[in-house]
Amino acid sequence: MGKEKVAIIGSGNWGSAIAKLAGNNVKKHSDVFDDSRVPIWVFEEDYEGKKLTEIINTEHENKKYLPDVKLSENVVAVPDLVEAVKGATALVFVMPHQFLNKCLDQLEGKVEKNAKAITLIKGVGVEGSDIHVFADVIQDRLGISTSALSGANIANEVAIDRFSETTVGYRTEEEGQLWQKLFQTPNFKVQLIDDVAGVSLCGALKNIVAVAAGFIDGLDYGNNSKAAIMRIGLLEMKHFCQEFFNDVKEESFLQESAGVADVITSCLGGRNRKCAEAFVRQKKPFDELEKDMLNGQKLQGIHTAKDVHIFLKARDRLGAYPLFDKVYNISWEGLPVEKLTEGL
Ligand code: NAD
Ligand code: 13P
Repeated sequence: MGKEKVAIIGSGNWGSAIAKLAGNNVKKHSDVFDDSRVPIWVFEEDYEGKKLTEIINTEHENKKYLPDVKLSENVVAVPDLVEAVKGATALVFVMPHQFLNKCLDQLEGKVEKNAKAITLIKGVGVEGSDIHVFADVIQDRLGISTSALSGANIANEVAIDRFSETTVGYRTEEEGQLWQKLFQTPNFKVQLIDDVAGVSLCGALKNIVAVAAGFIDGLDYGNNSKAAIMRIGLLEMKHFCQEFFNDVKEESFLQESAGVADVITSCLGGRNRKCAEAFVRQKKPFDELEKDMLNGQKLQGIHTAKDVHIFLKARDRLGAYPLFDKVYNISWEGLPVEKLTEGL
């Protein structure tokens, strides 16, 4: 069997951090991976008068989305998506969830038949009363086996090699081990579990909880309230998974980085939390705050809150998930933020 050729699809804050790990690890495991070139698809834009791809390829740094972190020189920025995945057998999907479908439209029929994929995207695909995790969406649309990685992984911290853990929900054990080789470092521990849906849903739903935690900070309610939000949020996450997905594992919530640990880090230090706090303090809409505060990075939590709201409404189950519902109504419908804890 030939060596695995990796391609990374997405080059934001997390995409760039993961490209750093993957670029180094293909060299470390050059018996398994082609270490000569790791293409990373970049949604092209100008940054400080130059093309972002040109900056990445000459300075080996994504100056816009992950400044001051050097990527290894085999990480090559490619502006054409189809070109980036040409010949690749190990595809890493890591763009904000709002752009996935557009990318899949371009990729359908264009990926290698023997390829496999992993998604690091946090979100869910909802159409009325149907819900899908993105690993299933990618697998169905491209016809390739797709695993999921999620965990307590603030990108800037992983990128500077601070100790962290993550969880890969694998399709097959062999694929899990391949993804572990691609991402694990002495300071980035990759745990494996046979639970693609559980890992994916934890990553998506914790973003709603992180928005609630930011509201609590904006209200200056303090640590007890925030801990309560994390506990209630984790329970709603678990109930949601158990109600709508048959085979999720309890360990994904309680023992894996993807579950409780990601709730904690996101409620303490994530972008969703930060912008939700500003939403309360500055009384500006989220799209304005995203532009002002994130320099092109994208919020996921408020969109996932809307997706989950649409789904729960279609299933007539809104009442069973009061925290998720409050986050939606405060973010999108003008419900006063002081109502957040009422009735929880
Ligand atoms: P990001 O938030 O930095 O978003 C910026 C990226 O979006 C850039 O690559 C930009 O080019 C791209 N983009 C903007 N407009 C676009 C368009 N119209 N079409 C396609 N791409 C466009 O992205 P990120 O931090 O890499 O997040 C990707 C996923 O990883 C998200 O689901 C996120 O929840 C998840 N994640 C992020 C972190 C983190 O700390 N940043 C950690 C773990 C998981
Ligand atoms: P934010 O998108 O809220 O920054 O969360 C990042 C993350 O997923 C940490 O695990």
